[in-house]
Amino acid sequence: MQQIRKVLIVGGGTAGWLAACHLAKKLYRPDGSGVDICLIESAEIPTIGVGEGTVPAIRQSLQYLGISETEFIRECDVTFKQSIQFVDWVKAPGQISPNFYHHLFDYPDLATLDLTPYWLQGQAGECSYADAVAVQGRICDAGFGPKTMLQPEFQGLTNYAYHLDAAKFATLLTRHATQKLGVRHLLGNVGAVRFADNGDIAAIQTDAHGELTADIFIDCTGFRALLIGDACQVPFIPKNDVMFVDRALAVQVPYRDPEAPIPCYTIATAQPAGWIWDIGLTERRGTGYVYSSRYTSDDEALAVLRQYLQGDADHLTPRRIEMQVGYREKFWHRNCIALGLSQGFVEPLEATGLLVYDATARMLADSFPAHTGVMPLLAERFNQRVRTAWDKVIDFIKLHYFLSQRDDSAFWRDNRDPASCPQSLLDNLALWAHQVPTPYDFHSKLEIFNLENYLYVLYGMRFGTDLSAQKYRLTQPELAAQMFAFYRHKAQQLQTQLLPHRELLKRIRQFGL
Ligand code: FAD
Repeated sequence: MQQIRKVLIVGGGTAGWLAACHLAKKLYRPDGSGVDICLIESAEIPTIGVGEGTVPAIRQSLQYLGISETEFIRECDVTFKQSIQFVDWVKAPGQISPNFYHHLFDYPDLATLDLTPYWLQGQAGECSYADAVAVQGRICDAGFGPKTMLQPEFQGLTNYAYHLDAAKFATLLTRHATQKLGVRHLLGNVGAVRFADNGDIAAIQTDAHGELTADIFIDCTGFRALLIGDACQVPFIPKNDVMFVDRALAVQVPYRDPEAPIPCYTIATAQPAGWIWDIGLTERRGTGYVYSSRYTSDDEALAVLRQYLQGDADHLTPRRIEMQVGYREKFWHRNCIALGLSQGFVEPLEATGLLVYDATARMLADSFPAHTGVMPLLAERFNQRVRTAWDKVIDFIKLHYFLSQRDDSAFWRDNRDPASCPQSLLDNLALWAHQVPTPYDFHSKLEIFNLENYLYVLYGMRFGTDLSAQKYRLTQPELAAQMFAFYRHKAQQLQTQLLPHRELLKRIRQFGL
């Protein structure tokens, strides 16, 4: 049994630097008594350069890592994200289709009363589910940011995440990790891997620094999966049978009017073979069509994206990205651990990439092995938890496709085929057809999407729950009426306090929080 003194991270994309920050924060000590954290990245192999949407958990991470929110907003072209607006997901364009926000990052107040059954009974009238149970949809529609200049960093009047420039974020994390957290940074290309007799990775060969040794190697080489895949031969489990999209065309679009209002939410617009993301940053939009190569060609996809952008990017060539959809059979194999795209990826809907990589990096740092003897046990737990997290992500994302009523293309029709749907999701939907979901339906340690997230998507997409056998349980209609009225009133009141989104960002950049 040997103490772990050296960790080597290979890859300097967002995942690599997030991992470096989490590990160094917990394990590095300037006097040398802790763990040496070193990151090597290639100066020639670019990072993937997409990944601009986040979820609120990123706020806790930034704060925990000691990154200033003002600095982050100034340096990474950050805007606030309060939700995702789903356009044309329920029905095809031209048919009446509710465009709904999910998940409003403000959750319904279930502790006071779950309004869902009362809403299902029609007690809120024509009001959408999101507007009936929270204020944030109205704040988004009105174009306001989530906070005023009076709230300290990381606090808001509504809950929020961010949109960010991925390349600038990696630069900020690099500086933070190297200057404040003691991470060593090397530039070089990693080639061959040398194994020890017991099957552990003993060293990696680099062009600029010769052979590098470590006790633990973290693979953050993106879809290349240089260590966990190429070297350790851990198989990849594809999930294309459930998640159909496998390509993206991404393009950064300049604003026509640099003073145009910036949406305070991601816009996700369904298309015949996938969907288009549209993210407003301070200086530009980040957009892209995520589509299935089984259901459309690259040329057709390009035409769809160009039509969506209405001439705004005709002078630009979108970048084509091939996505490996699925995850590794194991994420921790002997002394090699995969974090980031090398670990797994399903698709960008709901911004699960950074969320999972950040959560698993934190989990690794928090439960870091005291010595080599406990590594097999920890690896087994890590593998089981991360696999469950990915399965939960897949269930949740599939839900959006499975509930769609679009019948205008084979892509949408086939997505509704139960054979393409995980049994766990089918079981839940069978239950929820007769009763509203409860917290007991969510029990994983690393539960990525919870009851509230499901409520927003299920009822935003008009999932039918038949409550006819349970009317006797709806004993608080008066309280429900008061709460529906409260949210209407509160949304109006908040709008008198909040600033338009672009104005809020300008002030933060100028004065700081
Ligand atoms: P990469 O960014 O690919 O970095 C790989 C690193 O490995 C680079 O530094 C490279 O130099 C290095 N490297 C590779 N080979 C070698 C070698 N031989 N030697 C040395 N170094 C090497 N996530 C979200 O959270 N929100 C989103 O909205 C979102 N949108 C996405 C949209 C698309 C189309 C895709 C494909 C992904 C999206 N993601 C999103 C996921 C997001 O891209 C990743 O979370 C994030 O960028 C992490 O990437 P990475 O660091 O694992 O890999």
